Amino acid sequence: MKRQLLVIALIFITMLTANGEDEMRIRLYYEETPEGWDVYIDNNEIVPVSVQVSFTLTNLRSSVKNNSIFLLPPGSNRNLISNLTYIRKAGKSSFAPVIKACFGDHTQNIYDADHAYYLPFARGESFIVGQGYNGAFTHRGENMLDFDMPEGTPVHAMRDGVVLRVVQHHNRGCKTEKCAKYNNYIDIYHSDGTFATYAHLRQNGSVVNEGDTVETGQLIGYSGNTGWSSGPHLHIAIYFARFDGMKTLRTKFLTGSGETVEYLKELQEYERNY
Ligand SMILES: [Zn+2]
Repeated sequence: MKRQLLVIALIFITMLTANGEDEMRIRLYYEETPEGWDVYIDNNEIVPVSVQVSFTLTNLRSSVKNNSIFLLPPGSNRNLISNLTYIRKAGKSSFAPVIKACFGDHTQNIYDADHAYYLPFARGESFIVGQGYNGAFTHRGENMLDFDMPEGTPVHAMRDGVVLRVVQHHNRGCKTEKCAKYNNYIDIYHSDGTFATYAHLRQNGSVVNEGDTVETGQLIGYSGNTGWSSGPHLHIAIYFARFDGMKTLRTKFLTGSGETVEYLKELQEYERNY
């Protein structure tokens, strides 16, 4: 009897980044074997990617339980996700994978909590934290910081890392959530598995490219007022990516002349003299 197979595969996988929807550079595919099908995923991102895979199966058995989580190394091909084996050799069979994905390790909770981040602006400058952690405007329940600063203020890297995403083509913003999709931003991956986002940058406001390595204190771009923004400012957050969004983290900053390491507080002005 001729074997019939129906496959519904999600080749383009959409996930939530810190700043909205984005397409991940991963690819799911499958190869026929004498016993059934092998399912693979390529990760073409420059950072590790977590995927959670479930299958709806007819006349096939998966070698892994549904909702199993895999951590795919950066730039890795043919990561075996599952062997699907025929239950009966003859007859109709089908499989439909459902995939959730995020950057980094979805299961990671430990990070370098004592790392002293640089303030995200030039040496000699000082700015006020207009909205702090758990701020009442848009940071409720989140560890995010807004620095009030004029558009075009130089933005500097808070920590070493590799540039994961640059979005800089937008030229508009407004005070409501409907403008969130116009956000320009730079996302950077750190060695402890955390990410940083630098948001609301002006149009063409990045001087770094995806894949670049950046050093702490390096100029990376220019602030703006794009996206969901109530006025010119720089929004930053350090976070773990998760399947359902992001988990923002409290981090310490070097302040003043570089001798103090502290959490930043809302409505306080911080100077970078280091
Ligand atoms: Zn903010």
